Amino acid sequence: MTGLRLLPTVKPEMRRSAVQNLLVCEHWESGSSEAAAFGSLFHRAAELYLKACREHRQETRLGDVDAIVRAAMFDAPGGVDPGRFDELRGLLEQFATTHVANLRELIDVEVTLRVETEVADLHGTLDRLDRLDDGERFEPPTAVRVVDYKTQYAVDDHVFQMRFYAALACLTWPTVEEVVTVADHVHRIARGQVTEVYDRDLLLQWWGDVVMYGLTQLLERRVRGELAPPVGGAACQYCVKRRTCGAALEGARAIPVTDEEAVARFRDVLRIKAAYDDEWAALKAFFDGRPSVIVDNLELGWLTPAKSWRCTDPMGAIQYLAGRGADPAPFVSVLGSKLTKKLKDALVRAGCATDEFPGDPVFKSRKATFGDDDR
Ligand code: SF4
Repeated sequence: MTGLRLLPTVKPEMRRSAVQNLLVCEHWESGSSEAAAFGSLFHRAAELYLKACREHRQETRLGDVDAIVRAAMFDAPGGVDPGRFDELRGLLEQFATTHVANLRELIDVEVTLRVETEVADLHGTLDRLDRLDDGERFEPPTAVRVVDYKTQYAVDDHVFQMRFYAALACLTWPTVEEVVTVADHVHRIARGQVTEVYDRDLLLQWWGDVVMYGLTQLLERRVRGELAPPVGGAACQYCVKRRTCGAALEGARAIPVTDEEAVARFRDVLRIKAAYDDEWAALKAFFDGRPSVIVDNLELGWLTPAKSWRCTDPMGAIQYLAGRGADPAPFVSVLGSKLTKKLKDALVRAGCATDEFPGDPVFKSRKATFGDDDR
């Protein structure tokens, strides 16, 4: 093999998600889902909302929420069950009450940034772009904020996605020296934003090392017809082939495809749980009055906790906590069960509590300890 570069004659155009997933598995294929369609619908609604704020030069337009949700859902079909109208309205209402438009910093919403590279034309759409320097509108920015609204429930940092967008901003504006990224989980009212700060040099280094290097290798292998076999990995859960591909991760293959399947699977879970509860109740009855047994390093039976923390001097404990600047309220309300282990230990040392109190036996299994009879 010479050092000759083998690249496609027609440069592919790729969006961020395709780049990210194809770098995991070269056979990944994008699929559609109602969850993704609902996410797009929310993005459309948030875009209309922020544009309404900008048009009226107001930081909030709560009164527009209903009309915006109607427009987002019905002005063009979005592939979402109209039965989710109230859910979308609730989410936009929450968004409107927890986010001011912050027009002073806003550059634009739904901003698509494109860069032409040697191997492919790459693009990504930012839900919101702000400028963080105090420059005039007509001046190119030196510091920007990239915001992506997340409609999934689990909080994740989305490192690749946010760096990709941040790098696109640096490549679009050579003046940008710093990018703040925010993955904003809009279902959450508190602690739903994951923020990172990136420096231009590091971003461009990452872009070269990960995006450009990885893509070049991938596209060259494609041209040579040397694609690697499918490898199950992080891309499987977003891949349309996950049900039929032999290499798909088990966890991804198991993800329901339709609402009906999810409901049927939940019924299975309920059945399994009921069977589990029945088995457990039967064992509990059997071992009542009998010694415990050890099975596969687990001890099963009516077991007495080896140690249990108990407050022996409630007034002393309250005084101690108040004297340390710690809030005694959780102690008073639940007799200490919400205290941290550190405070519980401190109360034991202060003589207000003991951790030697043997609790009542409960039916359970736990890691077996040999030579210690604590029943
Ligand atoms: S299911 Fe997973 S391993 Fe199979 S093609 Fe898709 S991404 Fe690759």
